[in-house]
Amino acid sequence: MAAPPPCSEERRENPITELTSYDELLVELDRIKRVSAGRIAVETIGQSSRGRDMFVATVGSGPKVVLIAAEIHGNEKTGPDAVLELLDYLGTSDSSRAKQVRDQLTVVAMPKINPDGSALDRRGNDMTWQEVQARLPQLLNAQPAWNYYTDTRQGDDYSQRPGFDINRDYNPNLDYQPQDFPGASDQPGWFVSPETQAVRDVYRSLQAEFGAVDTYIDLHHQGACYTVAGTDRYVTMSLSGKFVTDPATPAGAEYADFADTYRPEYSQRLNVAAYNALQVAAIQNPDFGNITLYPQDIDLPCTGLGSFQLNGSGAVLFEVRGQTQTLGQQHREMLTQAVYIGLDGILSSIASGQVNQLDPAAYDRIPLTDRGQRTTTDVTDFEF
Ligand SMILES: [Zn+2]
Repeated sequence: MAAPPPCSEERRENPITELTSYDELLVELDRIKRVSAGRIAVETIGQSSRGRDMFVATVGSGPKVVLIAAEIHGNEKTGPDAVLELLDYLGTSDSSRAKQVRDQLTVVAMPKINPDGSALDRRGNDMTWQEVQARLPQLLNAQPAWNYYTDTRQGDDYSQRPGFDINRDYNPNLDYQPQDFPGASDQPGWFVSPETQAVRDVYRSLQAEFGAVDTYIDLHHQGACYTVAGTDRYVTMSLSGKFVTDPATPAGAEYADFADTYRPEYSQRLNVAAYNALQVAAIQNPDFGNITLYPQDIDLPCTGLGSFQLNGSGAVLFEVRGQTQTLGQQHREMLTQAVYIGLDGILSSIASGQVNQLDPAAYDRIPLTDRGQRTTTDVTDFEF
């Protein structure tokens, strides 16, 4: 096997102007709402730590809810672009495929759930521990959360503007009241950020209205230099449907309360639907074939995926190649397209009912990721 072409995880100053900024998102959501002639509703779901409005866009009137979240890490920017493209399609297309999705599903998209981090083009949000303590007096003597950044991460200096990795701020107990700090990566988070509170509240209101959130999809980026195991091809995107230890196993005993709602096989089927759609697209562009399984030996109840999966949603992680500090907007079109194709594959498969015919064992046949090119030990560079 030939060596892959050179690839570096070193931070570079890359342009990102082709990727949708927060201000452009406002314009684009407004445009999509108008051209959809009433099919797309856009609502404000709260404000970020720095007062930016957060949005949810809804399309479809079906009984099954698919909730899509993008850019919880502000340097992971293909998600919003793919979501906007998807909304545009679902809001305007008269194809039978789009109609079936609208009839069978209610698609709820949160295109930029960390707008402050997005504006700073960094992983963490822009909220201090002191602000958290001021809002939650019971934390006055608590140690700062383990996921509170005050140093340098992924080349970004947080010393002057500290912030949280808010994708460690979720708790499977959606009623949780913050305590138990500083916590750890394999422990639940706290809903201390207004951003995760807003997502949690959307999830809960959908549960109340529809009985359940059928599917939750979270859009991320990962390292730039991973290869498809056994090949010299760089990974375009990794997928996963596993985020916590199975509550039905002894090792997952701490999640026993969720044993009845956890549906690992459904998550596997959803991932297979995305994988299959990308393999079909690979006939046109081989890059879409370079899809792998994200490492499965993780236990992250503090993530949106871990928490919502325990609450009964089928869950899918997309991990696109390269965050902005390494790739910037390089390969933007192809990578955004890969996300779009994966999302469309999942929605079509649920809407047609085909997802139930898929073999969950096919999930285990998705190629593994070779992380051999890893060049730094900062784990935040590599985790979703
Ligand atoms: Zn991420």
